[in-house]
Amino acid sequence: MHADILLRGGDIVDGTGAPRRRGDVAITDDRITATGDLSDWTAGRDIDCTGRIVAPGFIDPHVHHDEIVLTDPGMDCMLSQGVTTIINGNCGFSIAPLTATGPLPQPLGMILSNDAPRFATYAAYRDRLRADPPAVNTACLIGHGTLRINEVANLDRPADRDEIAVMARALDAALSEGGIGLSTGPFYPPARASTTGELTEMARVAQAHGKLYVTHMRDEGDRVIEALDETFQIGRDACCGVHVSHHKCAGLANHGLSETTLAMIDRAMQTQDVGLDTTPWTASSTMLNSGRHRQASRVIVADSTPHPEMAGRDLADIAAGWGTDIDTAMERLLPATGIFFIMDEGDVRRILAYEHTIICSDGIARGSHPHPRVWGTFPRVLGHYVRDAGVFDLETAIRRMTSMPADRFGLRDRGRIAEGTYADAVIFDAATIREANDYAHPTRPAEGIDLVFVNGRESWRSGVHSGARAGVVL
Ligand code: ZN
Repeated sequence: MHADILLRGGDIVDGTGAPRRRGDVAITDDRITATGDLSDWTAGRDIDCTGRIVAPGFIDPHVHHDEIVLTDPGMDCMLSQGVTTIINGNCGFSIAPLTATGPLPQPLGMILSNDAPRFATYAAYRDRLRADPPAVNTACLIGHGTLRINEVANLDRPADRDEIAVMARALDAALSEGGIGLSTGPFYPPARASTTGELTEMARVAQAHGKLYVTHMRDEGDRVIEALDETFQIGRDACCGVHVSHHKCAGLANHGLSETTLAMIDRAMQTQDVGLDTTPWTASSTMLNSGRHRQASRVIVADSTPHPEMAGRDLADIAAGWGTDIDTAMERLLPATGIFFIMDEGDVRRILAYEHTIICSDGIARGSHPHPRVWGTFPRVLGHYVRDAGVFDLETAIRRMTSMPADRFGLRDRGRIAEGTYADAVIFDAATIREANDYAHPTRPAEGIDLVFVNGRESWRSGVHSGARAGVVL
């Protein structure tokens, strides 16, 4: 038998959580064609993987790279950490369908630049990605916040019946054109006035397509319990699967609360479809004027449009330098994004260790000083939390990055090393993999990753991009 490529003698972690086993993996075209003892096979190219882990390419189910996949399609920040598939359109804000004209309200204006192309339909965005593909596979949720910006005349009030009907039709069309689910973000100003009923009407449309309601909940701090209850209620009323994005308990007063929230999720799962993901960091990142700074022990400015020179500096130091209070300094920096130290390490570990938690980066790759999760999330889990802290074993961690997100979001034939699946794969050294970046140097690529394949194409090798742009739209 013959293959294009044979990955020989690696320790295969297949993505299902099964223990690693020594073996070979055959790749022809864009598929894995065999695994196991393939010593009698020949190949166009043999790659010795002795002493290395061979795993499915990681799937990042929560990013904000909607525009970056068009403007920076090499996607080094993802490939360099072994990610081969991303899901955009999160937190209620997708790049499409966008019919609004003029300046975009935050946080959409944080995710998209002022001169970002505007796609009136999801199909137009999808076709553009197909014509000019990025280096990773992409899928996209359709954001309720974006639909609201398009259709609701005054964002400070609930949508009326007619507006809800128009948004539902637009969502229905976008999901028919390939959007993989609905995202909402009632935390953010453009959607804060939406009622539970409005969100439920949107969830009904997702349900009709057999797709998920994915949410940046109304509150992740003092009212996180109520926000979880609202999310579960929407799921029950719409008979729709719900997915809690980047689950956290924000603010000093809420540290330790994950014991309660995870128990709530566990209870809800007994009777309805609930899932969650999280990031492996105690700092979050979002737009600067979100009120988050009041819950944070420290705030770093990640990016500021009027003051790009302040990126990477502490908000408190900027205010002191300007001789102003924090709020005045913040106003001067807007539009801006920040990094907020608001979570407890104990909660981060408890949520990570919870058996149903999927790993995500929640990356926003804007400016010179983004949150280090943009470049370091997956190696940080495999290095810091698996090897050094022993929060879970390697096979479990990889399952949370591969087959679990693939199954949760309906990405067929992805997330597993198995005959017939797409040849998305990462080869790395379990002894050395780590995030090499930090808050001061956030864009340093991770270490320990040897090779990354996307749809059978070598895309990243020992820190260097191959130039391949083998991603497809899922
Ligand atoms: Zn979010």
